[in-house]
Amino acid sequence: DLTIAKTDPELWAAMQLETARQQDHIELIASENYASPAVMEAQGSQLTNKYAEGYPGKRYYGGCEYVDVAETLAIDRIKQLFGAEAANVQPNSGSQANQAVFFAVLKPGDTILGMSLAEGGHLTHGMSLNMSGKWFKAVSYGLNAAEEIDYEAMEALAREHKPKLIIAGASAYSLRIDFERFAKIAKEVGAYFLADVAHYSGLIAAGVYPSPVPHADFVTSTTHKSLRGPRGGIILMKAEFEKMINSAIFPGIQGGPLMHVIAAKAVAFKEALSPEFKIYQQQVVKNADALAKALIQRGLRIVSGRTESHVMLVDLRSKNITGKEAEAILGSAHMTCNKNAIPNDPEKPFVTSGIRLGSPAMTTRGFTEVEAAKVGHLIADVLDNPHDAATIERVKTEVQQLTKAFPVYG
Ligand code: PLP
Repeated sequence: DLTIAKTDPELWAAMQLETARQQDHIELIASENYASPAVMEAQGSQLTNKYAEGYPGKRYYGGCEYVDVAETLAIDRIKQLFGAEAANVQPNSGSQANQAVFFAVLKPGDTILGMSLAEGGHLTHGMSLNMSGKWFKAVSYGLNAAEEIDYEAMEALAREHKPKLIIAGASAYSLRIDFERFAKIAKEVGAYFLADVAHYSGLIAAGVYPSPVPHADFVTSTTHKSLRGPRGGIILMKAEFEKMINSAIFPGIQGGPLMHVIAAKAVAFKEALSPEFKIYQQQVVKNADALAKALIQRGLRIVSGRTESHVMLVDLRSKNITGKEAEAILGSAHMTCNKNAIPNDPEKPFVTSGIRLGSPAMTTRGFTEVEAAKVGHLIADVLDNPHDAATIERVKTEVQQLTKAFPVYG
């Protein structure tokens, strides 16, 4: 057993239960994944002890020669992975990556144009309670009648409001995003263009989703979602913006970088450069498609009609159940997902009429289309009989068979 089991049994008990939960439940949260043992070894290493304010070769602390190696590996690998001119691997999270871009190019009161949270965007793209909505004048675009990004409306808003920054990227949008089109309008109205690919970055790295890197001034991402690394963020940029972004991260909005996490990022980026990772991401997309098709077959509606990525929003109204209820009942059958508003949702944000599902985690544990479709049917079985204890028990047993056959960590 680990030392922690003796020194902190109270915490250890919770950690063991969480480990068992991750093994025993089918993880359908689109933003989650299982990091590899090597990533976790780096993240749980002695590099956590090191202060390294600054950047490789230019630190404000002594003794940085080895963590310099770790950060340089992470930078070189992520640049190679995305074909980026420059990269900053220090953001502590996806939100801080975005904040650094804002801090670099915006002043309080400036206008930003991003995707509405209610239609698939992220909090940090201008939601009223987020810093991005409080400090900036946030204008938002959404979806058209076909539930595709309303590019025409977005362009009209850009021409009308002349934002300083246009943001593409989403947390709950299943289709491909036309980054080139965003870049074009940004250029026309004199805006910077930020693509936040937190959700899609693993797919992009493997070439199964369009890359914004050739088109955007800045590309931000988390490292823990489809990219399957440690929790954290990154910023890719054109070389001309490297100095500005580096100083926006440090000393702008962060202090000492998390060197253990940066080391774990380096490990994850090496993994992402491997041929296996490409096959993994191809399977992620196939599994999402198989899951969506099974749900459609069982009478559920997928927002935008389909998925072209790892993620989908399921409209639950045909089953007369709210997102909140569905999340709880699916959880009791050992399938974990999150409630999520659908476009023009009649329910409150804490209730919702939808759930968001994603395939990255199930694919990491080895599921293929067969198991993904099976999961779709198990979800539909529960949603068809949400108050029937026998159905929940039977589904839970079938889930158990799957999770036993596909252990998360071997
Ligand atoms: N951007 C997008 C599009 C996201 O989906 C997320 C995470 O949900 C973030 C940014 C923020 O990442 P973090 O939770 O690491 O702050």
